Amino acid sequence: MSFWKEKTLAELSAQEWESLCDGCGKCCLNKIIDDETDELYYTNAACKLLDAKACNCMHYEQRFTFVPSCTKVTVDNIAELTWLPDSCAYRRLYQGRDLPSWHPLLTGDKTKMHELGMSIRNKIVNENKVRYLEDHIVLWPLKDCD
Ligand code: SF4
Ligand code: SF4
Repeated sequence: MSFWKEKTLAELSAQEWESLCDGCGKCCLNKIIDDETDELYYTNAACKLLDAKACNCMHYEQRFTFVPSCTKVTVDNIAELTWLPDSCAYRRLYQGRDLPSWHPLLTGDKTKMHELGMSIRNKIVNENKVRYLEDHIVLWPLKDCD
């Protein structure tokens, strides 16, 4: 059942909302915003809690204890979270788009997402090992498919 097509984001249950997350991990990458141009740059320097293979948070339930600056994506703040990647399911639905064909809710698992390079799998470095974020700017998190 395509509940995301039948309901607005505000009508989704908590479980439905959580299931929309594709688990790509791209929102957990450090980003740089140019002070002068407001341009957003993604880096491959990931939050220390992000698992590079599973692409999920190693302490999701307690994440705010470990990383107070972590952002919870909600229906109330999705409009403001313009730094989310264009491939993010929440951003796509908020913008009136559909889920991408590789989304785990459509394919049954994360295999297609990884194959298409839409996740952070094996592409990141732990932020604790990074000296200058500017040296880690990458373009692949901006990739969006269908
Ligand atoms: S970018 Fe969006 S879909 Fe991907 S892990 Fe983050 S919240 Fe989930
Ligand atoms: S605390 Fe977890 S959910 Fe938050 S940015 Fe880090 S890895 Fe991502």
